[in-house]
Amino acid sequence: MGVSSASDLSIMTIQLNNLTLTYDRHPAVHHLSTTIQKGEWLAIVGPNGAGKSTLLNAMAGLSAVDEGAIDGLQPDMVAHLPQQTQLDKSFPVTVFELVATGLWPHIGFAKPLNSEHYKKCESAIAAVGLQGFENRMINTLSGGQLQRSLFARVLLQDQPVILLDEPFNAIDTKTLADLTQVIRQWHQDSRTVIMVTHDLDYVREHCPEALLLARECIAKGASKTVLTSENLKRATRLSEAFDERNNWCLRGVA
Ligand code: ADP
Ligand code: MG
Repeated sequence: MGVSSASDLSIMTIQLNNLTLTYDRHPAVHHLSTTIQKGEWLAIVGPNGAGKSTLLNAMAGLSAVDEGAIDGLQPDMVAHLPQQTQLDKSFPVTVFELVATGLWPHIGFAKPLNSEHYKKCESAIAAVGLQGFENRMINTLSGGQLQRSLFARVLLQDQPVILLDEPFNAIDTKTLADLTQVIRQWHQDSRTVIMVTHDLDYVREHCPEALLLARECIAKGASKTVLTSENLKRATRLSEAFDERNNWCLRGVA
């Protein structure tokens, strides 16, 4: 079906240059400059309202850039798993139909599937442990099962850059372990994985790189050097200055 593996694609470094993203002129991301190398497994962390989802949406090409630029990234290089709150779970589709939409970038919007496509869907569904659930409506799934389905869809999208927005919120530990294995494989394939999470212990254990965001960049680099209590406190202070409703989780801070 004409899909290149990530390693075949000579994707460049992603460069955020003085990036500002706004809603009604209020900046959600402010003068952000940083570099993300090909093949990084980067965690984006920061208080609630720090601009993490806004940044991912812009990288996925879903929202406009107000100022600055995102260089080295085309929307057709990206697979995006949105934050669950952005999803309409009542949409009447089965697991198979949801997963199969991951083929659309390669075969076209809502085109009929051939037997090779069916096999690819089946193997993606098996890879996330959902065999037997193909015909279940997505509104009957647990949070973990829905997240497994969305990961299968990303597997089929087969892109060199993968954006995951809070992929492990409210899921069971078995799902977390299984989907971490899927991400580890993407990382080994030299895909660039950028994931938003609140779980600092997870970042320390699994993600080599981290970007601490509080509308602006507080720190970016090796996770252990970014997630210091000093940096986290600075992010909280900056964020509180913007928004008194913030409830940043300081769990696991050294
Ligand atoms: P995070 O994902 O880090 O919690 P978001 O990127 O969702 O933060 O939001 C960043 C800021 O932008 C917040 O102050 C939020 O209230 C605001 N915001 C997010 N989405 C919208 C929207 N659709 N319209 C207006 N403001 C928004
Ligand atoms: Mg968010």
